[in-house]
Amino acid sequence: YFFKNIFFFVLQVTEESLHSQKVATHYNKLQEHGLAERNKSRIVHMRNFNNWLKSVLIADILDKVRRRRREVTVLDLGCGKGGDLLKWKKGHIDKLVCADIAAVSIEQCQQRYNDMRRRGHPNDRTFSADFITADCSKELLSDKLRDPELRFDVCSCQFVCHYSFESEQQADTMLRNACERLRPGGFFIGTTPDAYELVNRLEVSDSNSFGNEVFRVTFQKKADYPLFGCQYDFSLEGVVNVPEFLVYFPLFEEMAKKYNMRLVYKKTFKEFFEEKVKDEKNKVLMQWMQALEQYPPGEGGQLASDSLGEYDHAKRVAARRPLGTLSKSEWEATSIYLVYVFEKMA
Ligand code: SAM
Repeated sequence: YFFKNIFFFVLQVTEESLHSQKVATHYNKLQEHGLAERNKSRIVHMRNFNNWLKSVLIADILDKVRRRRREVTVLDLGCGKGGDLLKWKKGHIDKLVCADIAAVSIEQCQQRYNDMRRRGHPNDRTFSADFITADCSKELLSDKLRDPELRFDVCSCQFVCHYSFESEQQADTMLRNACERLRPGGFFIGTTPDAYELVNRLEVSDSNSFGNEVFRVTFQKKADYPLFGCQYDFSLEGVVNVPEFLVYFPLFEEMAKKYNMRLVYKKTFKEFFEEKVKDEKNKVLMQWMQALEQYPPGEGGQLASDSLGEYDHAKRVAARRPLGTLSKSEWEATSIYLVYVFEKMA
């Protein structure tokens, strides 16, 4: 019995570390495509929609934080290549810590940050930034911070948490990294696939998989959904991503209580979109982001980095360009996700 237990323990540890390696290798290998290349993709509108959603979420939260604090410090947990750097710049934050398991992504993120600083107007005050390579489901970020006293006002964890639900310990470490250094009143925000949506779609499908021409989700088996380690494969445009794990949201909410976190809201992408698009400012931002797709590479990038917040300019650009929209298949893919906002209690 003893040796059997030891054997299964070693097997489990080996599997978990293999999975972490797979995640890092997968994201390290992903090529950085130029704007022109990205715009040819069948999921260009979906990428734009996800970006819009993150922009609106981040702007809303920074707005709330600013009412209480003049200096804002942010942790971007699972920052990837720095897809949200401009959003932080637009939000006029003061300090950013970027962390990711993939060393190559962190390098590219740092490069992007340096480029952004160089390109900026001399009077532009770009935030300072630190970059950390770490498996945030196994290592403690507090051991790696340059300033051990640092506290965050916001932790943003976009499309990341589902990788940590392989085991309770990994999910807990990810949550600990996200929440333990938040100031009281600080926010933990993010996006992750909605377990209800995934399981509902799987249950009505006649196989162990569902999807369309742009995405496919494949479970190992049906009707058995453990709280941790419930693995599925997600492929986008035919490319199989690293395995992901089901995040049962009520469990996530319960686990976050350990770090004094209160759920402010959880919304599906559909609910979030329907609510936020009513605001004229957000609508124009969406039109503008769509319009940027049509620009030749240099021009689009330049516009995006210049003045994302300039409402009138955005309006003029949007008015000049015909607008694209999400295809039904793209909508089916993106409507799997949900948005969450937690607040740290005193
Ligand atoms: N947050 C970025 C965004 O919204 O563009 C990137 C999202 S990408 C889908 C998922 C990111 O999570 C990848 O960069 C991956 O390396 C990172 N990641 C996955 N597991 C992680 C872990 N255990 N620790 C740190 N980062 C992790």
